[in-house]
Amino acid sequence: MISLVVPAFNEEENLTVLVQRLTSVMASEGLYEILIVDDGSSDQTRYVLRQLSQTYPAVRFISFSRNFGHQMALRAGYENARGDAVICLDADLQHPPELIPTLIEKWRQGYEVVYTVRRPDPKLSWFKRNSSKYFYQLLRRVSDLELEDGAADFRLLDRKVIDVIRQFKENDLFLRGAISWVGFRQCRMLYEPAARYAGRSKYSIRKMLKLAAMGITSFSTRPLYLSVMLGFGMSLFAILFGVEVLYEYFFTDATVSGWTTLVVLLALIGGVQFIMIGIIGVYLGKTFVEVKGRPAYIISDTSDIDETVTSWQP
Ligand code: UDP
Ligand code: MG
Repeated sequence: MISLVVPAFNEEENLTVLVQRLTSVMASEGLYEILIVDDGSSDQTRYVLRQLSQTYPAVRFISFSRNFGHQMALRAGYENARGDAVICLDADLQHPPELIPTLIEKWRQGYEVVYTVRRPDPKLSWFKRNSSKYFYQLLRRVSDLELEDGAADFRLLDRKVIDVIRQFKENDLFLRGAISWVGFRQCRMLYEPAARYAGRSKYSIRKMLKLAAMGITSFSTRPLYLSVMLGFGMSLFAILFGVEVLYEYFFTDATVSGWTTLVVLLALIGGVQFIMIGIIGVYLGKTFVEVKGRPAYIISDTSDIDETVTSWQP
């Protein structure tokens, strides 16, 4: 069975068309379900979903009590999907449903993750294109993730991968990162984004910034090391400055009495303080990594056990 997971936030005008398109695409694909996660919509989404689930037996839905955000909606979808493979796509038809059979075919060939990358598209706004490009550049730089520009949340995951993702305990889970991080046999596909079918983007600037901050802080502790760098920089400066000031004190008479000790101590203590804060930061970073309780490794196949085994102890 294949599950299609669709997060929807105020998408009343899109859902009916979406379900029609999905049903026609899936007609030749055997058993499937369409699981729509209503992320606390304030429009008629919930009503539309009830109607749809009565008309189409394949449609199931979950409604959040309030808006928890796209990532949480996806997660709820992953946790409640019943399929052997789960495909998620946006409700606004920007992710072409016609690509689904190709994703499924790749999965049948043995890929456990089939992810998609958006082709650079002049139809998208300048801001969307560039914000995503720079964000991924920064993320690649500060973390060990190798996310490509235009990586999207349109992808197929095998049951094995879903089971691993479900065991991530952290609340703030950046799914794109987590899925790239877990490994498995991954296959990449390009797609041509369509225009939004109806309504406006539900990703406000605030939500985008939040997603970016979450991506960086949950896959990198490098920002914490900034303080150490700064501390060493400042200490070095303090020492050089100290030498210069002492020289002035002993060999010229341009200094005011009391000034020398004051500035040298100030600069030095500042530097040492930054280093100490940095050291605390490094330990905090390690605690942070441990608290997340991620597996140290993930096994994808073995000769002994059928299921995916991880290094966790439940
Ligand atoms: N979405 C959601 N919760 C939110 C914001 C968005 O579930 O808080 C859903 C939205 O309904 C859509 C998908 O996430 O199915 C992508 O959002 P959108 O199309 O607005 O983003 P864009 O394509 O503009 O980046
Ligand atoms: Mg969209």
